[in-house]
Amino acid sequence: DSLPQRLSGIPERWAQQTPEAIALCQDGVAFTFQQLAQASIQAAQWLRDSGVRPGDRLMVVAENCIAQIVLIFAAARIDAWIVNVNARLSAAEVDAIGDHSQPRRIIYTVSVSAEARAHAERGGALAHQLTGVGEIAVGALNETCSVEPVCASGSEQVAALIYTTGTTGLPKGVMLTHRNLLFIAASSSQVRGLVPGDRAYGVLPITHVFGLASVALGTLYAGATLYLAARYSPAALLQAIRDDKLTIIQGVPAMYARLLEYDKGRQDLAQTSLRFIYAGGSPLDSTLKLETERLFGRTLHNGYGMTESSPTISQTRLDAPRSDTSVGSVIPGVEARIVDSQGADLPQDEPGELWVRGPNVMKGYYRDEALTARTIDAQGWLNTGDLVRQDSDGALFLIGRSKELIIRSGFNVYPIEVEAALNAHPAVAQSAVVGRPGHGGNEEVVAFVELDPTQPAPNEQSLHDWLVSRLSPYKRPSQIVVMQAMPAAATGKILKGQLKELAQRLLKEELHPE
Ligand code: ATP
Ligand code: MG
Repeated sequence: DSLPQRLSGIPERWAQQTPEAIALCQDGVAFTFQQLAQASIQAAQWLRDSGVRPGDRLMVVAENCIAQIVLIFAAARIDAWIVNVNARLSAAEVDAIGDHSQPRRIIYTVSVSAEARAHAERGGALAHQLTGVGEIAVGALNETCSVEPVCASGSEQVAALIYTTGTTGLPKGVMLTHRNLLFIAASSSQVRGLVPGDRAYGVLPITHVFGLASVALGTLYAGATLYLAARYSPAALLQAIRDDKLTIIQGVPAMYARLLEYDKGRQDLAQTSLRFIYAGGSPLDSTLKLETERLFGRTLHNGYGMTESSPTISQTRLDAPRSDTSVGSVIPGVEARIVDSQGADLPQDEPGELWVRGPNVMKGYYRDEALTARTIDAQGWLNTGDLVRQDSDGALFLIGRSKELIIRSGFNVYPIEVEAALNAHPAVAQSAVVGRPGHGGNEEVVAFVELDPTQPAPNEQSLHDWLVSRLSPYKRPSQIVVMQAMPAAATGKILKGQLKELAQRLLKEELHPE
């Protein structure tokens, strides 16, 4: 079937075909496709009346909730760009995104969390009732912000401005068009085999593209039901599996790690309605994959992508489950090349940097033409900055980011490999490995670990001992730091840039103790 021109075509299509089917469900409130389409039309009218015009940015500070989804489709109807910002960010982080994106208005969804309320109290004056969706707070009208050109073709119009996780530095504003997001919504629903009647868990933040395009839009595109959750907790997930008879779970590896830590083998999840479980967004190591599969009694699928590619690049196939940690093969409609540092194609079996091209590639970074030109070449190839290798059957394996590669005494150390060895330790909940610049361009390997509180705590020496039989000497960390909690994004991704700075500070403290 053909793609609609705009995101708002998704609820419109199902409002005609199955108006009474449930589109969204949260805390016992159900919203049919008919209600979703109508609420979006009314909200679009209200946005227009409140001064939001085509080519404006509309910022929404929220955590997963029905109002947030209504506003996405409402903005789409009037060609405004939606800028979804997570209410869990600090005031300074929200302001930084506001300064960069220059929204005409900021809307706060008040009811989801204390953090959301605090932002609303700081920035939102006018309270307003969105029909049937609940109360929102509305920020002042920005009279001076620029109006971006509106595309004649609806599908090439920017639909969403999404900020990257900021793993390696400051978050970058990625412009995604209606076509980008609709392509991934359709692809996600096809590759996962979604049908009306499926019930998908929507706990990944919709403020990130994985939660927005693959999960929320993908589910609704198929006419299936999305069970929204603002925050992740293993107990709530287990309850939703039982009570809502979920058929689909999509998450990041850290979500499954926390579930395993919580469950301790008590549940039998093999006898549930679940038919598809999926992890993506950060490296999945084999221990976690195996233990998760044991808990659920089914394959844990894996996929890879980035904000700049809306996000999906590759995914394992339903009909070809894998026992290794491959991130699957490139999704249909997307082209891939594996190249050396000069951009020259490499032989099939050689690892290199991945470049992709296709309808999922972003329009560019907002207000950063130079970075856009460095990232997408004249032929439309997006340089992912990720290092991969490919099997003869097309399966991709992530080796790491080229930026994160650690060069130690002339040898390459890939953090993913060291992290996997640490994660295999029974008392390690998660780990992150970074490089620390040393003498003569040489780098040291520094590991950070978060321990599983239910296991006896190992000391640093016993963690070093654990690695001796698992890693060759040059790959072993020179320092292992136990963290109470890792610095993490709302998706659960570890913010390695912050750990790199911490590694640097720890060294200084060692050399010059206070
Ligand atoms: P920033 O670009 O701001 O530093 P980020 O790259 O983490 O942050 P995202 O766009 O959210 O922001 O994440 C994309 C990156 O996440 C990819 O480039 C890749 O390095 C990593 N990634 C995504 N999926 C996987 C996966 N399945 N396995 C390993 N790494 C993954
Ligand atoms: Mg990135």
